[in-house]
This record gives sequence, C-alpha cells and structure tokens, in this order.
Amino acid sequence: MTLLLLGEFEDTQVWISAIKTHQPDLKIEVYPNFDNLADIDAVLVWMHPLGVIEKFSNLKVIISTGAGVDHILRDRNLPANIPIVRLVDKSLTSQMSEYIISAILHFHRQFADYKIQQNQQLWRGLSPRNTENCTVGILGLGVLGSDIAQKLNILGFSVRGWSRTPKILDNINCFSGETQLNLFLSECSVLVCLLPLTPETEGILNQNTFAALPQGAYLINVARGKHLVEEDLLTALTSGQLSGACLDVFPIEPLPENHPFWRHPQIIITPHIAAKTIPACVAPQIIAAVQKSQEGLQLNNQVDVSKGY
Ligand code: NDP
Repeated sequence: MTLLLLGEFEDTQVWISAIKTHQPDLKIEVYPNFDNLADIDAVLVWMHPLGVIEKFSNLKVIISTGAGVDHILRDRNLPANIPIVRLVDKSLTSQMSEYIISAILHFHRQFADYKIQQNQQLWRGLSPRNTENCTVGILGLGVLGSDIAQKLNILGFSVRGWSRTPKILDNINCFSGETQLNLFLSECSVLVCLLPLTPETEGILNQNTFAALPQGAYLINVARGKHLVEEDLLTALTSGQLSGACLDVFPIEPLPENHPFWRHPQIIITPHIAAKTIPACVAPQIIAAVQKSQEGLQLNNQVDVSKGY
C-alpha cells in the first residue's frame, strides 16, 4: 500500500515518522516524487495542486489533514466514487475550544481597554460584566461547535447555537435553518463562526448578520476567511455595531502585508493556528482510513460531498 502526501505540508518528515511509528511497512511518498501514478492507494492532502488527484487510477481514499474539506472540494475534477474522510481529533477539538475561550475572556474581561489604560498608567476598574448576561452564539454545532458550547456553559455563559438541522444539547439554546438565523443572532453578545465553508455559508458574516446582533457585539471567526465579508466588518466596527473582532482565518493566507486588518485597533489577528493538527495524534486514524479503504470497509468521518462537509 502506498500513501502519498500531496499539497502544502510544513514538515513532511514529521508526518512520515508519526505514521511510520504505527505502521512501519506502509510506503509513504511525497508529491511530486513517486514512481508510478497507479501505485498510489491513498492521498493525505492539504491545499493540493488542482487536477492531480484524478490521475491516480487505483486511488481508494482521499484524507484531509484537517477537520475542514473545502480545500479538497475546491477541486472540480475529483473522481466521483472516491471517498473523502476528514480528521476528528481530541487535540484539535481542545485547541479550538481553548482558543475561543481565550478570545471570549479577553473581550469579556475587557483586557483591550485595560491595555489602553496601562499605556496611560491609569489605575481604574471598569464596570464588571455579568457572565450570565453574556450570550455567546455559536454558528455551527458540529464536533467543534458542540464542544465549545458545552465548555462555555460550564464557565457560566449563556450559550446558543445554530445548525442546519435541529439539535438538542443540554443547557444550549439550539436554533436551526435560515428561518431561525435572525432570532438566534438577536441576543448574541459574542458571535463565533465554526461553520464549514460551503456555497450556503460563504459570506454569512455580512452586514445583515451584523445588523441582527445586539449593538457592540464581538465577532470571532475561526472557520474560514471566506465566511466573512471584510468590507462589512470594517463598516460595522466604524459604526459601533460591532465592538471588535478576533480573526484566525482569511481568504488570502498569509494576510497580505498592506491589509487594513493588520493595524486595526479593534481587530486581533492570529495566523490560522486556532487548532493545528498534530501528526502524532492523528496518525492512527490515517492508517485506519488507508487500511479500511483497501479492504472496502466503512470509513470513519466520511464527508458527505452533497452537503459539502
Ligand atoms: P462539523 O462538520 O462537525 O460541523 C459543522 C456544523 O455546521 C454542523 O453543526 C452543521 O449543521 C453546521 N452547518 C453546516 N452547514 C450549515 C448551514 N448551511 N446552515 C447552518 N448550519 C450549518 O465541522 P467541525 O465542527 O469539525 O468544523 C467546523 C469548521 O471549523 C471546519 O469546516 C473548518 O473550516 C473549521 N476549522 C478551523 C480550524 C482553524 O484552525 N481555524 C481548525 C479546524 C477546523 P448540522 O449539524 O445540521 O449538519
């Protein structure tokens, strides 16, 4: 069996040794250095070059190195019958929840205002905010969204979530579908985007969405850059409809040098690190996907291409 690493990898050697620790005899090649197109049984991909995957005549599975698969589905020439699987991993989920909790507490405990006061050597307590009265809304109640929803609930926030299909989660006020979006948004002091990028969700963080939030709401986008209409965010920050934003993802990454977000006083930027895959943590599920696909067995975390996630 041969697994091909295809696309952008920070360090292919780390991936190879993590996988080989669990299965030393698995042959692993790195694109574009491989012997024969027909030898490739499985591809592990992140932002692969378009039009390549269709050439592997014996391919049995496409594995995403992350939770999202928009980077795979942007390839319009994918072979229709090859399953796509994504990674679902405890460490990825914990990292994401830690990131969001950090961003929310930074906003909720007014650290940005205290930093301004520190620069003025000003010793002054601001009015405290009641956690119970701070409603956090999570767009997307999947693996990541439901984890952060539960953790925020334990911290005492009032939590609500929005998904495509109806959900029941303990102590979370659940909304679903287009028709309930504005009702969901109407009380969110903080809005967190954890949706997959699909034709339905692209541009969802736009002026209409911001207008439906209470004035002064805070935005956290950890999903994909194309969820956000950037001009609409700048307008909402200027008008005070939004009080700030924490952004981890951008339509063009790295964020271009002259982009207005870099120096915006109300925007916090991180370089797509909210939750990064740790090869050693996910190696066993990559091997399981390769083996099961070889044996024609049902795969875990298979993507429904018709839904786009
Ligand atoms: P899941 O597939 O588990 O969950 C997706 C959720 O979004 C589901 O609740 C789904 O609803 C909901 N959803 C999808 N489409 C719609 C729609 N049109 N309207 C309303 N709700 C919708 O994904 P994960 O939680 O694992 O991951 C979410 C995203 O986070 C990934 O796709 C990825 O883009 C991003 N991500 C970002 C990272 C980073 O470092 N910044 C790291 C990891 C992931 P339903 O439950 O009804 O199907």
